[in-house]
Amino acid sequence: RAFSSMDTFKYEDLEIKLTTNPKEKPGSDHQYEFGKLTTDHMLEIDWDVQTGWGKPLISPYHNFSMDPSNSTLHYALECFEGLKALPSYDKKKIHLFRPIENCKRMNNSFKALAFPEYDNEELLKCIKKLVDVDRDWMPWKEKHSLYIRPTGISWENTLGVKAASKVKLFTILSPVGPYYPKGFKPVSVNCYTDFVRAWHKGSGDKKLGSNYGPTIRPAKTVAVSGYDQILWLVGDTVSEVGVMNFFVFWINENGEKELITCPLDGTILPGVTRSSILALTQSWEEFKVTERHFKIQEVIKAVEEGRIIEAFGCGTAAVVSPVQKIGYAGQDYDIPINEELQSGELANRLFTQLDEIYTGKSQFKDWAVE
Ligand code: PMP
Repeated sequence: RAFSSMDTFKYEDLEIKLTTNPKEKPGSDHQYEFGKLTTDHMLEIDWDVQTGWGKPLISPYHNFSMDPSNSTLHYALECFEGLKALPSYDKKKIHLFRPIENCKRMNNSFKALAFPEYDNEELLKCIKKLVDVDRDWMPWKEKHSLYIRPTGISWENTLGVKAASKVKLFTILSPVGPYYPKGFKPVSVNCYTDFVRAWHKGSGDKKLGSNYGPTIRPAKTVAVSGYDQILWLVGDTVSEVGVMNFFVFWINENGEKELITCPLDGTILPGVTRSSILALTQSWEEFKVTERHFKIQEVIKAVEEGRIIEAFGCGTAAVVSPVQKIGYAGQDYDIPINEELQSGELANRLFTQLDEIYTGKSQFKDWAVE
C-alpha cells in the first residue's frame, strides 16, 4: 500500500553514528560458526503508539537494557528474518538475494503480532546502508556471506497480555562461512509425530520466535536416535523439514516426472528459496512442478515402488539440503543419492544455478540486488 510519511519510517531520516572502537575482525582463515560473530554496527527504528515511527539510526553495536517486565520476555512478542549479503563472483560488489521478499515477510509477521506496518522499500534502503557501513566485515571468500537478521520486538514494559504500545525494529549482521565446507552432506530426517510445528489458522507461515523455541526439544529427541532433522507433518501431510521447505522429485502415480511441494496453506513458511526454486524449475519446462498437499504415505509408496528420484530441503542458510533417509513409524526409507555428488542431480543443479544468480554470474528476474 502507499504510505503517508506518518505511517512509516523513512530512509532519508536515517542518522549514522560510527563506532570509535571497532571490534577485532576475524583473520582470513577464520572458521566461522553460524551466528557467533556480529559486526560493528546495528540498525534500530523505534515506534510508539503516540508518536508513530521514529528516525532510523545506525549506531555502534550495543546491548539492550531491558526492564524485566518487558513483554517480549514474557509473551514472545518477537519476530525475525534471515537473508544474506554475499560477494559477487568477481568480489567487487555485494549482492542481496530478493531482499524485498524478507521485508514483506517481516511486515506480515509484524501484522500477526499487532505491531505497526512500515514501508518495505524504506526498510530495505536502511538495511542496504547497514551492510554498506559494515562492508569490511564481509568475508570475501567463496560461499561466505554476511547474514542479515532483521528483528522486531515489543519495547513495552508490562505484564499485561496486550498489543505493544512501543516496538523496536532492529537489524544486526553476522559474518558466516559456507554451510557445506566440504561439499554436500545429505541428511536423515524423521517424521516426529508427538509434536506439531504448525497447524491450519495458526502462525506457522510467519517468522515468529514462538514458532521456533518449542521445536528444539523435538529436534534433540530425533538427534538422539541418529536423525539430523525433523520432517514435519500436519496430520499425514508433509509440510517442512527442520527450518526448511521440502521438495520431492518423483514419478507420480500417473507416470509423470514431477517436482512437488506443500502449498502456501498457512502451515508452512513462504520461503524465498522455495519460491525461487518453483520459478526456476517452471522456467525450464522440463517436468511438472506442483504445489499440492501430499501425504507421507504417498512418499513411502513411491519409495517402495522405486518412483522417488530425490528429495531435498531448501532455505537461505543451506540453499538446498539433500535428504537420504526418511524415518516414519519406526521404519527407515532410503531416498536415492548420487554417490559422487552426495546429492540428487536436481538439488545439485539448483544449488549451482542459485549460487550463480546470487553472485551475479547469471541473471534471473533481477533477483540479485547490488
Ligand atoms: N521454513 C522455515 C520454518 C524457516 O525458518 C525457513 C528459514 N527462513 C524456511 C522455511 C526457508 O525460508 P527461506 O528460503 O526464506 O530462507
